[in-house]
Amino acid sequence: MAEKRDYYEVLGVDKNASAEEIKKAYRKKAIQYHPDKNPGDKEAEEKFKEAAEAYEVLSDPQKRQRYDQFGHAGMGGAGGFSGGGMSMEDIFSHFGDIFQGAGFDLGDIGEMFMGGGGRSRGPRVRRGSDMRVKVRLTLEEIAKGCEKKIKVRKLVQCKDCNGTGSADGTSETCPTCKGSGRVIRQQRGIFGMMQVQSECDTCHGEGRIIKNKCPKCNGEGVLRDEEIITINIPAGVMGGMQLTIPGKGNAAPRGGVNGDLLVLIEEEEHKDFVRQESDLVYNLLLDVPTAILGGQVQIPTLSGDVKITITPGTQPGKVLRMRGKGLPRIDQYGRNYGVGDLLINVGVYIPEHLNKDEKKLVEQLQDSPNIAPGASDKKNFFSNLFG
Ligand SMILES: [Zn+2]
Ligand SMILES: [Zn+2]
Repeated sequence: MAEKRDYYEVLGVDKNASAEEIKKAYRKKAIQYHPDKNPGDKEAEEKFKEAAEAYEVLSDPQKRQRYDQFGHAGMGGAGGFSGGGMSMEDIFSHFGDIFQGAGFDLGDIGEMFMGGGGRSRGPRVRRGSDMRVKVRLTLEEIAKGCEKKIKVRKLVQCKDCNGTGSADGTSETCPTCKGSGRVIRQQRGIFGMMQVQSECDTCHGEGRIIKNKCPKCNGEGVLRDEEIITINIPAGVMGGMQLTIPGKGNAAPRGGVNGDLLVLIEEEEHKDFVRQESDLVYNLLLDVPTAILGGQVQIPTLSGDVKITITPGTQPGKVLRMRGKGLPRIDQYGRNYGVGDLLINVGVYIPEHLNKDEKKLVEQLQDSPNIAPGASDKKNFFSNLFG
């Protein structure tokens, strides 16, 4: 990325400019470089965005303070401005505030900025809406990745007319807009009388109309129906993640572009494990003799039970780590980079009720020389546990 200009310089204001001065300066730049005034001018568009970014920071007291202190370096990261990522829609969404009280009619501005020419020309291609579904997965499914088939009710293309909406496959150029999908009106705007383009009402921007409508879909080209969709879920996904399956959402009227299917991942609770990112946590409760004498115990993993060796004198609170027995790690693009671990939290069960014989055995132990902890034992125990 090219070196960023100083935000104050971008807006042409002094370092200690007031909020009102900054707003005024931005207003001027926004009008000067507005895409509708500079159609097809890339440089103007860059300047327009640059000004919007500068205003975004300098109009917010917290961000401005951080910028004054650290410059552009202070703007990245959490809570900061991501930099250069502003879309035109973001910018236009601010305009309500900017022009309020500036003597302009907000209706004019909305029309000019949002519906104005210079950005979307020609007939409109319709896009079907996105659909959201939830998929619940077990940890076993997440560990390996899986294929899920789900039934969804959605808009699908009408087979009778192949999605055209026309009974005989013909359509006509819209007489109102002559096929452009847009009509031009004269309107008073902030620069005086101006030409404003808007969507053609006759054809809803599509540029064509159908006289002989398909009876099955009533000219829409789409019908509500059920579809079974196969979703491939990569290993390692996490609850709250959303997968996008392009083109599997609702079909669009009359041969437009399909929407996407958005799959929200949910996790089922597991009887043995708690997930911590890509690690799994298992709680193991030992009986007193095994903790003292050591031995073998069986523990579950997602790939079946395994035996592990408990060393003599294992303390409660110890965490054993089995490398690679967790879940696959994936980055935000679904690419795998290794596997997590299985963490075994060791506890020792102290029985609350004993019979006479058991009580006697424990009482014998009490007098035995190795049972009571010494000073260093105490220190080690708590530093291992909490240190
Ligand atoms: Zn039209
Ligand atoms: Zn049809």
